[in-house]
Amino acid sequence: MNEFSHFKLKIDAKPTMFHGKTVRSNLTQSLWLKKIRTQILIENNYSCVICKHHPNEENYKELHVHEIEEYDFDNGVVKLIGLDLICANCHAFQHFKRSQLVLSAEQLDRLIIHFIKVNDCSIEEYKRYRKKLQRSIFEQNIDRIMFQQKSSRTKIDHIRFAILGDIPFKDLVIERLKQKDVYYEYS
Ligand SMILES: [Zn+2]
Ligand SMILES: [Zn+2]
Repeated sequence: MNEFSHFKLKIDAKPTMFHGKTVRSNLTQSLWLKKIRTQILIENNYSCVICKHHPNEENYKELHVHEIEEYDFDNGVVKLIGLDLICANCHAFQHFKRSQLVLSAEQLDRLIIHFIKVNDCSIEEYKRYRKKLQRSIFEQNIDRIMFQQKSSRTKIDHIRFAILGDIPFKDLVIERLKQKDVYYEYS
């Protein structure tokens, strides 16, 4: 428990060595969009799980399916824990490093306003939270360097994926990952 544990919306930063590595990028459009996304929309009642944003039907594109992940640095594995339905604004904080690179200063300001509103916090709290995060990003960099040293010794040549959560069409997803030789099974 720390002073920010009550925040509904948090900033996440995927470790650099796993950037661009997602289960989704290994699936076909029809499996992801028609089957999985449709199911996640229904399960979550077409609302953001964090801020409860509930768009009109013509704006369902404002709702994104977010992959909840953990990382196995020793084996080079992205572990998919589950799928959340999140609005575009909340989602930008789940991938904040990328958002900082691709969004304008004005867009980032609007996001910070969203953050403060959803968490019912002050701008000072937001700033303290950001500062604390800088330190954890530093720690991630140490993890990455350790992984690089280890993988050069043990020859981890590509990132693989494990499906640990109960996701829709799980069997199809695993089958597809196996076909692409990127599936990792924990015994
Ligand atoms: Zn939201
Ligand atoms: Zn996401």
